Amino acid sequence: MDDKKPMLEAAANEEARDFIRDLVQADLARGQVQSIVTRFPPEPNGYLHLGHAKSICLNFGLATEFGGRCHLRFDDTNPVKEEQEYIDAIKRDVRWLGFDWGEHLYHASDYFQTLYDWAEHLIRAGLAYVDDTPPDEMRAMRGTLTEPGRASPDRDRSVETNFALFRDMRAGKFANGACVLRAKIDLASGNMNLRDPVLYRILHVAHPRTGTQWCIYPTYDFAHGQSDALEHVTHSLCTLEFADHRPLYEWFLGHLPVPARPRQTEFARLNIGYTVLSKRYLTDLVRRGIVSGWDDPRMPTLAGLRRRGVPPAAIRDFVRRIGMSKANSVVDLAMFDHAIRDHLNQAAERRMAVLRPLKLVIENFPENHVEELEAVNHPGNPGAGTRRLRFGREIFVERDDFMENPSNKFFRLAVGREVRLRYAYLVTCREVVKDAAGNVVELRCTYDPASRGGNAPDGRKVKATLHWVSARDALPAEVRLYATLFNRPDPGASGDLDADLNPGSLEVLSGALLEPSLAEMAAGEAVQFERLGYFCPDLASRSDALVFNRTIELRDTWAKVQVQS
Ligand code: ATP
Ligand code: MG
Repeated sequence: MDDKKPMLEAAANEEARDFIRDLVQADLARGQVQSIVTRFPPEPNGYLHLGHAKSICLNFGLATEFGGRCHLRFDDTNPVKEEQEYIDAIKRDVRWLGFDWGEHLYHASDYFQTLYDWAEHLIRAGLAYVDDTPPDEMRAMRGTLTEPGRASPDRDRSVETNFALFRDMRAGKFANGACVLRAKIDLASGNMNLRDPVLYRILHVAHPRTGTQWCIYPTYDFAHGQSDALEHVTHSLCTLEFADHRPLYEWFLGHLPVPARPRQTEFARLNIGYTVLSKRYLTDLVRRGIVSGWDDPRMPTLAGLRRRGVPPAAIRDFVRRIGMSKANSVVDLAMFDHAIRDHLNQAAERRMAVLRPLKLVIENFPENHVEELEAVNHPGNPGAGTRRLRFGREIFVERDDFMENPSNKFFRLAVGREVRLRYAYLVTCREVVKDAAGNVVELRCTYDPASRGGNAPDGRKVKATLHWVSARDALPAEVRLYATLFNRPDPGASGDLDADLNPGSLEVLSGALLEPSLAEMAAGEAVQFERLGYFCPDLASRSDALVFNRTIELRDTWAKVQVQS
């Protein structure tokens, strides 16, 4: 692991270069813009996930790298799905990821009056009309890619009629869905987005910010570009599926008295193996109770990753390593895991814990005698210091580290085998104790008193080194182990996401035992349980009992097979 470090550090120092950074650089060099303004525009209808992290790192990252600013703007145009809980969670998660919007917090709802005025502006120019066509019919009349759309009879309404009807819409004179305001653009356009898109719909629903002030709400398309312009955004960066919306984005900017002309550029959305990044499906998992909440550590949400113990710096690093591209692809989950391990390897102190304890009694160790041993907190960082461990006649080791009928390749505990107990002594297993059902419940061993520190006095070879905790002062804990939420790299490929859920994604071990120093860990702190992985105290458990989440194993499963001892 250590020999890899210089390479990874070199990668970390490499300056990010991609087509968006090149574009920004060129715009600044040409004097096209004096200073850049970007924005991250979440819709508050769910929690942020790893895909959003890509957009956040891009938008805030550009502002930092090029000395501009980045706005946080809530795209809150659909009060049916949006909630204050989501607004609060989004702010918390953007901050946690390491970014700050300063004074630049905005909402599309801040612009509702201006957007309304601009809708009237289009009506006055003969470029918008109120259409009473029922939604299903309107959809059918839009045509297809090979067939032009058909005009609604309302398309020829006079400016005066449209004006009066739109005011009535706003005044609440119509029921939900009775009519909409549409732009009058081109029903024969090859781009469906230009076939008289809807600008306003009637929704008699209170809004988290504007209350009952409005009963008509602008669509995403009518709000987004104009909000960008009102904030003097220079570079409006969005995912590829909005490329088809760009002509509409520009049509609005071209026909409205906007104070600036932002430019939209699209990049590929992030997709990751074994992971679903669809807000709708994630909402569904939460609603149906398939996960414990938005912050379930198996969720790809920032709240879930935080609770699982993933450091925000690892997410930023991951996003930088995958780069920006103009073509959609699926990133290997192993790349994310790599970034997490790199950070935790540096940050996490080492401790010992036993997940599935098996008692080990050292028959020739004096009863009631306790020895103090010194243990290193971080092998790569002497500054992290050492701590004292107590060792006695009775300890616990990992059940998996013993085999009754060992194969040739198994070098750990078995009757007659000698192993090293980390920081302590060499012990040899003499016999096993079984319960009535024939289960091994205890190992009887002897130790070599001359092997203190774990070194054989005669230099004899002892391959395996095991972790352990002392029976006298170990702390009981619950430990939760996680696997991917889906059991295939391309969840949903069969057409049924639920069928691809991994039934073994959570394993709860209620009888784990920890080294005593683990009682004092701060929330959010990471630790390596030697040989077992990186862990963190669970942020959400309210009881006094210790609960730890495994963030990630030490190496991926494939590598583990290679180094099995
Ligand atoms: P929905 O799935 O409901 O359309 P969304 O995931 O696009 O929602 P938004 O709140 O609209 O969520 O997203 C905010 C910003 O994050 C948008 O600019 C969007 O392009 C970006 N974003 C969302 N998902 C990804 C992703 N997987 N990769 C990169 N950027 C993303
Ligand atoms: Mg969206």
